[in-house]
Amino acid sequence: MHTFRTLVLVAALGSGACAQDAGTLAGATRALGATDLKSIEFSGNGKWFQFGQAPSPVLPWPAFDVSAYTASVNYETPAARVQMTRIQVVEPGRARPAPVQQRPVQVVSGTNAWNLAPPPGAAPDAAPVPQPQVEAVEERTMEIWATPHGFLKAATANNATSEPVNGGGSDVSFTLDGKHKYTGRINAQNQVERVQTTIDNTVLGDTPVEITYSDYRDFGGVQFPSRIVRTQGGYPVLDITVSSVTANPAVDIAVPETVRAYTAPAVNVEMEKLADGVFYVKGGSHHSIAIDQRDHIVVVEAPQSEARSAAVIAKVKETIPNKPIKYLVNSHVHFDHSGGLRTYVDEGATIVTHALNRPYYEKAWAAPRTLNPDRLARSGKAPAFETFTDKHVLTDGRRSIEIYPIAGNGHNDAFVMVYLPAEKILAEVDAYAPPAGNAPPPATPSPFAVNLYENIQKLKLDVRQIAALHGPRVATLNDLRAFIGQRAATD
Ligand SMILES: [Zn+2]
Repeated sequence: MHTFRTLVLVAALGSGACAQDAGTLAGATRALGATDLKSIEFSGNGKWFQFGQAPSPVLPWPAFDVSAYTASVNYETPAARVQMTRIQVVEPGRARPAPVQQRPVQVVSGTNAWNLAPPPGAAPDAAPVPQPQVEAVEERTMEIWATPHGFLKAATANNATSEPVNGGGSDVSFTLDGKHKYTGRINAQNQVERVQTTIDNTVLGDTPVEITYSDYRDFGGVQFPSRIVRTQGGYPVLDITVSSVTANPAVDIAVPETVRAYTAPAVNVEMEKLADGVFYVKGGSHHSIAIDQRDHIVVVEAPQSEARSAAVIAKVKETIPNKPIKYLVNSHVHFDHSGGLRTYVDEGATIVTHALNRPYYEKAWAAPRTLNPDRLARSGKAPAFETFTDKHVLTDGRRSIEIYPIAGNGHNDAFVMVYLPAEKILAEVDAYAPPAGNAPPPATPSPFAVNLYENIQKLKLDVRQIAALHGPRVATLNDLRAFIGQRAATD
């Protein structure tokens, strides 16, 4: 008898439009119709921001105007596709190449992620093909379970715990995949107001993600926020005003065979000798320079990831045996050029970087690294820095390595190039990348490359080889002149 009465009471709470469960997981699940929602599509416009590519270590991620944004989510697969049309906003006073409209298509299905884009090297209007994005699975999966309905579904399925908050509502928490903790605020109106979680990043470690949902409206029978703001690593990455929502659309996302069959190749490292004791360390999209000093090695640039750094370090030590890597020179803070720095800290190298970057790295590297502990997280070594704001020289008493800020370059405010005066070699990245083959120079010269050339002229550097840390080959100063529409010089 007693058991029967309890069951009746539970049933009444679960199904009725009752005030008792307002602000709870059950209340929001019922009010937003999360149980019956198998898929959703929402569209709008606003801003997107390029995570990890701030123009200075003290500025937010740079903004793009988004004229069209559509996210299609299938909660059952689970799978999602995000399409947008965006173009970079050029900040007042910052010279950038003329922005080009981009139309990325980003997809995840289960444990596969891919983009749809023209093949690498093809014309921008070539037919898009699936391009595997193994490293994007974590973020895109998060995007599914951090939507309002996805959050409620995942919370219900993963034994969420709840804590009431003052003024009504509750904070609901659960853990996915045994490691990603989600916390969401459900307000007294049964709306998911905010979702917080973390994802892994090579520079920032456990990177905080916070998505704020506001101005809920009825979109043809489904309650959905009309504004979505997402921050990642402390700054906005998305700010969308939602204009339409469809409940339970067909979202059929098949994993392409080329994506399913893809396995990431091993990191490739190739050494090209530029001069005695100076090596161009290539083999991927991002290169480094290794310099054999009297009793140590200097490496310029630690791009991408620990995997790349580990492979580069192994190859450099094989080529230049029995010497420690004493210095790692960092060109700038963009994450594709700083993602491998921590491996060199663990290796015992001093990080040589513009003074503006040091506090950024110190703060970033102090963050927890529970999602994907790297070598430095395990060793706990303290980073050593050598910083500068003007010309800086590393020397072993024989060979000088000169480091110069690339002054006034719109790409980044704490941006350096490396010059070897004896060998007349310049190493730089993201100011100039020589085009492949006989590709013509851009119709409008890149202000980044023009500024690089002006810096070389102002500093009176006698450059014979430009070892660009992106691009297919070593270039000459005449190549750079041609690239910016200047006549060749006979020097
Ligand atoms: Zn950059």
